[in-house]
Amino acid sequence: MPESHQAVPSNTTVGAAHDGVVVTAGSTSCGPSEASVSRRQARSPMPRTDAPCDTNAGTGSLPPGVTDLYERAAVVLGQDDVGICWPYGLEPPPLSLISLDPGAYERRAAHARVRQEVLVAWAERHGLRQSRADCCPLWLGRARSKRCALFAPDCRCTRYGVSHPDSGWLEHTVAWLRDDRPTVLTAAPCGIDERYRRRLAYWEQVDPRLRTATGTGWYGSGTTQIVLWRRDRIAHVEPARLQEEPDTAP
Ligand SMILES: [Zn+2]
Repeated sequence: MPESHQAVPSNTTVGAAHDGVVVTAGSTSCGPSEASVSRRQARSPMPRTDAPCDTNAGTGSLPPGVTDLYERAAVVLGQDDVGICWPYGLEPPPLSLISLDPGAYERRAAHARVRQEVLVAWAERHGLRQSRADCCPLWLGRARSKRCALFAPDCRCTRYGVSHPDSGWLEHTVAWLRDDRPTVLTAAPCGIDERYRRRLAYWEQVDPRLRTATGTGWYGSGTTQIVLWRRDRIAHVEPARLQEEPDTAP
């Protein structure tokens, strides 16, 4: 069954941004630049568009040496006419960088590939596919993939609503389907504190079908992966694990 997409505000940027934030290649980290991005997100929490992703826009072809990985990624992440729908921060560097600075391209490509491989293998292992209709944990409670009604007067979205107690930990969120049903949410905040733990405990309490786990995830750089899943749709989900932190950061 196809996903149900809801219209999003017309000022949601299409093309150069995800979640209303301008994407810069290789920018996922917990350093100062990431912190400023997070603050901008907190001030203007908006859902990303359901329009086709803009991942690697303008490159026009695959980076060299990654055909197999990209074929697998296309299955679990989806693709549009310009490339794989990579989650925020996992995009490959633009191919235009090869002619400008081949060394920088290789470093950034290697940095991205390690993380891309971890993500794709994790999704394959769990039988998951990316949804483009990610929202708050209420999304997991639905029979089919559908966002909260963001413009409804009684909207109770806990990520994008008037009260949005889950917007803090839902950074770099990816929604995952299993058998076309909402099954897993992953997020990658810069660490996890008591506020976030209380929210995760809340969700497990109000909906006994939900379970949570934390781990390293695929981003590294000081982020913590939070996994929230429907245990009646998948028995257990292991957080992804970035095995190494190669010295290939951009
Ligand atoms: Zn929601």
